[in-house]
Amino acid sequence: MTHILDLPLAPSFSAELAADKNEENSSRQVPDACFSYVKTLEPSNPKLVHFSSKLLKEIGVEVKNQEEFTAVFSGKKPYNNFKSYAMCYGGHQFGHWAGQLGDGRAINIAETEKDGKPIKFQLKGAGPTPYSRTADGLAVLRSSIREYLCSEAMSTLGIPTTRAMSLATTGDFVPRDMLYNGNVQEEQGAVVCRVAPSFIRFGSFEILASRQDKENLTKLANYTIKHHYPELGEPSKETYIKFIQEVSDRTRKMILDWQRVGFVHGVMNTDNMSILGLTIDYGPYGWLEDFNPGWTPNTTDAQHRRYRFGNQASVAQWNLMQLANAFYPLIEETEPLQSILDDFQDTFTKEYHEMSCHKLGLYQTEKVTEEFTAKLEKNLTHSEIDMTLFYRELSKETPEKFWHILKATTYLKKKELKLHKKCWMSWYESYQALVDSENMDKEARSVKMNAVNPKYVLRNYMAQLAIEAAENGNYELIDELYQLLQNPYDNQPEHNKWYAKRPEWANDKVGCSMLSCSS
Ligand code: AMP
Ligand code: MG
Repeated sequence: MTHILDLPLAPSFSAELAADKNEENSSRQVPDACFSYVKTLEPSNPKLVHFSSKLLKEIGVEVKNQEEFTAVFSGKKPYNNFKSYAMCYGGHQFGHWAGQLGDGRAINIAETEKDGKPIKFQLKGAGPTPYSRTADGLAVLRSSIREYLCSEAMSTLGIPTTRAMSLATTGDFVPRDMLYNGNVQEEQGAVVCRVAPSFIRFGSFEILASRQDKENLTKLANYTIKHHYPELGEPSKETYIKFIQEVSDRTRKMILDWQRVGFVHGVMNTDNMSILGLTIDYGPYGWLEDFNPGWTPNTTDAQHRRYRFGNQASVAQWNLMQLANAFYPLIEETEPLQSILDDFQDTFTKEYHEMSCHKLGLYQTEKVTEEFTAKLEKNLTHSEIDMTLFYRELSKETPEKFWHILKATTYLKKKELKLHKKCWMSWYESYQALVDSENMDKEARSVKMNAVNPKYVLRNYMAQLAIEAAENGNYELIDELYQLLQNPYDNQPEHNKWYAKRPEWANDKVGCSMLSCSS
């Protein structure tokens, strides 16, 4: 098998798009370019924490020399003679145009191909770039563990995502004011190597459109279609419209998956939206425990909760509108773009209904009213029911047991739960009637339900436990969670302790119930 460091280099992004002519690594505006060449910062004492065997296998490579592997994927040594670079992009942050952002701490260190499909390797936390603005270009162990574990967990859940190949500590310390309250701590630095066919974002197009740089906008659009959407055909006005439709479809499917498993991204700015419809930039994300459409894990967004669970589809649509605006100079027609955006909403509503039915093991979805699924969501919210546990338990349920399920999965006190009993029983009666009318084999139904309702997700408190152990030099829990989340839909009796409600100690703990953008 090929050694990971012997892959043939196949630069395309940096070979075909405009480079920043200035190769100084100073924080600045970078016009007329899609990227800047920049070298990684040499970490003083890099140590490998973990790597994803699954991803290596998918790429078809192995690690033959761990020391060399660590040196390259921590930024200490270049990947052969590849000229590394950081990408330029802009973005709308929390609804407002923020101008140039760019890879402030991500550096692409290699581009290769497998079976004609592009693969990019990118180090996050490998030092400053022209896009670092006033920040340091570094990442801390805490947020790197969260990105590493969640990327791989999303992938095994079958959700489109950028991947994480490795996690290393740098041996250097990084000052961070985690709660933005003036309490600066020295934290361990770390680097994650992310892998994706492309890291192009909605914001990559927005920045060029905002600068009225039609030449580079056209080049980037054509590049993206040629390498990532070749099936759409030669670039033309029609092709650009098909492209926006395709990005919209992929984005919609990704959001539907998020809603299915209870994932909240937390910072759905347009610079964090992948042009391939991948989940990207794992920051203050979280998983719903008690079902609550209004919940966001991101303390920075606590006031307006723009990126709350129940708002992710609307925000995605809004973000797609920004992408469509960026493409307007190439299309010069609003109607087809507007119709794509309208279709997003209509199709999402239909698919969301189907998905909600499938989670409940109902397949004659035309018989199920939206009122019925909405009532369930209301009940889940009011009774503070753990989303993951509820759907898994429901698949093995018998009528007598339903109330027990609620008792076992609520975060309310038993007495409080009782207040909701009447609402639940009325819903449950309708549910039973629907189930009975489908007349499906109970076992077969349960298998189908379990294939869409994960048993194990990366709850914030689990990541937090792994972080606290790792900060003390113990990486066992990182591996345990990585292994557990390899098969999130399977029963893993040996891992029973992770099939449980959030423990009480985690209710109001930083890192468990709330997270800031500091990373
Ligand atoms: P995020 O909110 O993490 O998606 O980041 C928004 C922007 O800030 C992006 O341009 C990032 O590259 C940049 N950024 C975030 N953290 C850092 C950091 N520590 N150093 C430099 N740039 C950063
Ligand atoms: Mg980002």
